[in-house]
Amino acid sequence: MDTLYLQPLKENDMERTLILLKPAALQRGLVGEILRRFENKGFCLVGMKMMQLGEQILEEHYFHLNGKPYFPNIKKAMSASPVIACCIEGLEAVKTVRLMCGATNGREALPGTIRGDFSISVEQNVIHASDTEENAAIEIKRFFSENELFPYYRANSQFYYAGYELN
Ligand code: ADP
Repeated sequence: MDTLYLQPLKENDMERTLILLKPAALQRGLVGEILRRFENKGFCLVGMKMMQLGEQILEEHYFHLNGKPYFPNIKKAMSASPVIACCIEGLEAVKTVRLMCGATNGREALPGTIRGDFSISVEQNVIHASDTEENAAIEIKRFFSENELFPYYRANSQFYYAGYELN
């Protein structure tokens, strides 16, 4: 088997982050549109799966909001239908992906961001993205086992990054 594109390259040492396309994104048929933005930007998809989230993983994932009056609503909204979990990779992925998502409240998220363009709500804000490098590492482990992640060589890396950015 030709494994040329599975050979690890410098680009595969890049930062990774976790995104969840929330039930609202699935129900509204926005999955392709949202993923297209990350692909167009230049990020690599290294993991992707559909999941039905249950109580335990949601308690863990939103632990920082436990005790908030809207906590039960978040869990209900996040388990209303399956989600798509993705691990995406690229230079400064955590920061850039958060910028692309926009503010938590869709009404305040800037036009051009995902939430700014597709959400008019705080709860139904269509996407989750890790907020720090530390949390990204924890969240990727929460949603993916090592053998569900597929680093690969992208043949045209030099047209996404300058040489010095790849070193
Ligand atoms: P973010 O998703 O932007 O990192 P948080 O971690 O603060 O924001 O909140 C997690 C999720 O909880 C949000 O994406 C949103 O769906 C929901 N949420 C946050 N604040 C509220 C609120 N005041 N009312 C209802 N839902 C909220």
